[in-house]
Amino acid sequence: MNKLLSILFILSLGVSCAHKQNSQEHLMMSTLWMQHSGELRALTLQAYAAAEMELNRALKKKRSKPAAIILDVDETVLDNSPYQARMLIHDRPFEGGSWDAWVDERSADATAGAVSFLQKAHKRGVAIFYVTNRPDQNQQATYDNLVRRGFPVKRAHVQTKGKDSSKQERRDSILKKYDVIMLVGDNLGDFDLAFYDQDNATRRNLVDKFSKNWGAKFIVLPNPMYGDWENAIYHGHEKSERAALRKSSLRPQPREQLFDKAK
Ligand SMILES: [Mg+2]
Repeated sequence: MNKLLSILFILSLGVSCAHKQNSQEHLMMSTLWMQHSGELRALTLQAYAAAEMELNRALKKKRSKPAAIILDVDETVLDNSPYQARMLIHDRPFEGGSWDAWVDERSADATAGAVSFLQKAHKRGVAIFYVTNRPDQNQQATYDNLVRRGFPVKRAHVQTKGKDSSKQERRDSILKKYDVIMLVGDNLGDFDLAFYDQDNATRRNLVDKFSKNWGAKFIVLPNPMYGDWENAIYHGHEKSERAALRKSSLRPQPREQLFDKAK
């Protein structure tokens, strides 16, 4: 009898654990990859090596306005994977308060290759702009974090979100005075307004349309943790539906077979 009761107790523990699944569990593999894989480091170094080649090529051209580079901040020059890890460990979704607290620490590491590349560009007279969708209250801490990691940075060149989540107004304002030779980011919206607020099929088609720019004027960095690709999966749905949407968005057939079935 005692043995039977023990088995029932262990089974009930298993059931209660199953009900307490971490709501951020979907971030586990991508966060581990960002924090542990040599592959991320190799891809990031590869991106900044391509950026350096593009810099050398672009600076051979004559121009009427001074050259500039526009970079995103998060997962482009600074690594926020510790914040993602905290969300997972504490089972908390992304929220403004915990994000601001992380930014205020000013402790994000630089992404591999970023400081070295930007120091070279700075020494050759290229203006460096950091155009980020961090909220305005993060501006000082972001500037401090960039300085702390050795980035060439002017405070006025750290341009936070304001009312412009598309980044286009800020890019246009820089283009008035500068010849932007390169854009660097981890999200397609870091490169062109065309990507803004689009579904994922359109985003992929637009990537093909801009095919000559990748690895040249557009330098893209890997970020499997979050981005507009994820927002496009959830578009217009409640937060409570996200887990189901992730599952229903899986494609168990090759794209070609899906296309054939649709005919
Ligand atoms: Mg980013």
